[in-house]
Amino acid sequence: MISASNSLKNETLVMKFGGTSVGTAEAMHQVVSIVETEKQRWKNVVVVTSALSGVTDTLLKMASQVTTGQTTAPEESAAELARRHSEIADILIHDKAVRQIVKTEINDIISQVINLCKAIAVLGEATPRVMDTIASSGERMCVRLLAAAIQSAGIPAQAVEATRLIRTDDHYTDAHPDFAKTQQMTRAVLTPILEKGTVPVITGFIAATENGNITTLGRGGSDYSAALIGASLPADDVWIYTDVNGVMTADPRLVPDAATVPICSYREIAELAYYGAKVLHPKTIRPVIEAGIGLRVCNTFNPEHPGTRLVSELKAQDGVIKAITTIRGLQLITLEGRGMLGVPGVAARTFETVAKLGTSVPLITQASSEQSICFAVPTESTNSVITMLTSAFAREIESRDIDRVWATEEVGIVTVVGEGMRSTPGVSGRVFTALGNNKVNVIAIAQGSSEVSISLVVNAVHIQQALRVLHQLIQPAESGL
Ligand code: ASP
Ligand code: MG
Repeated sequence: MISASNSLKNETLVMKFGGTSVGTAEAMHQVVSIVETEKQRWKNVVVVTSALSGVTDTLLKMASQVTTGQTTAPEESAAELARRHSEIADILIHDKAVRQIVKTEINDIISQVINLCKAIAVLGEATPRVMDTIASSGERMCVRLLAAAIQSAGIPAQAVEATRLIRTDDHYTDAHPDFAKTQQMTRAVLTPILEKGTVPVITGFIAATENGNITTLGRGGSDYSAALIGASLPADDVWIYTDVNGVMTADPRLVPDAATVPICSYREIAELAYYGAKVLHPKTIRPVIEAGIGLRVCNTFNPEHPGTRLVSELKAQDGVIKAITTIRGLQLITLEGRGMLGVPGVAARTFETVAKLGTSVPLITQASSEQSICFAVPTESTNSVITMLTSAFAREIESRDIDRVWATEEVGIVTVVGEGMRSTPGVSGRVFTALGNNKVNVIAIAQGSSEVSISLVVNAVHIQQALRVLHQLIQPAESGL
């Protein structure tokens, strides 16, 4: 299982823990024991952590509430944040003096957040830069707590803020890293820490610009932080710890017999992440592929379970259909008209208009007759997209080149993912037969050119049934059941 970690060639492991893995004293205690175990197996262990579960949401809410005049709210949330961190400190940090220092540092961070909220209240608006500084506080508090908890268990550990390691541009809330600079900074800071045998406990999610302003890598970005740090060192392996046994064949809350996918290719995981499976931040993959290092998704609460190994190339026996995901809460918008055939650039103008609204389009289909374009958008965007398109194409609508722009009822996308589909004929036949036999009507279909996935649009009421039926097509041998 984890035998690879015993081989001499493996020296450096980066472990990333998500919010639920550090969300309570019990969970964080579990993290400490995982670090203890792996520290015996690896020469260098690097820990990257998210904020405690829910903390980033709370921080962002505190900042946005003050802009709407709810000025008492941040104090209440701040007290709750202080209470949660302090409770964990009481349980996991044994040395009284250290515990006091950590609590003071955490309270200072919370005070800074309150001060920023007050500034926002005065200004009446929060810039993305201020939002990032506020959002970064969750991870900054967490590393102090976790490093001290690890230290309390007898393992030398040190909290490190990734503002010293990861350099980005100033695209606040979704900053882009400068890879070369990041590599240089990460090595410079971490090498001496690792040489002493100390475990660096690093903030996920956050980084800094050249001027030292705090940025973030986007929501859920701690996975990406781990990948960037792993690629920079370079590590041998990056393990992403979550609260399920790796990548699952379907969402276990929707499909009770969902199982772990033992091996998954980078292309498959990218497709799964794109189509709604929240296993891994999609940007995580590129740095690890480029650095040629291993990636594994595993469970903090079941650490000996092998989880899912991510690999760049699959072998034939690694399975055809791997997993099924769903995205709910969408509507299909159709632009149609016989005159569209002759109008140049309709597709380009359509998506340009949608992009201006900042709406993401998870799926596009166009009939070969070119008389309609059809794409999915989140239901909350439907009205504004239709309004914008109607005005963007006012001239074509007037001249009847475009007859109408309309939206379906609520739909969902069910995506079947598996790289083996490319070399296995008849998979789509199996998919449609199964759905037809179970009276699930397919409204639209899209197959990525990579042939790693087939996406089906079905009515909202049919999503659950489609998921259940298609999940049965996964061969038990393939899913490791
Ligand atoms: N704490 C950040 C978030 O909630 C980053 C992460 O958890 O990966 O988005
Ligand atoms: Mg996450």
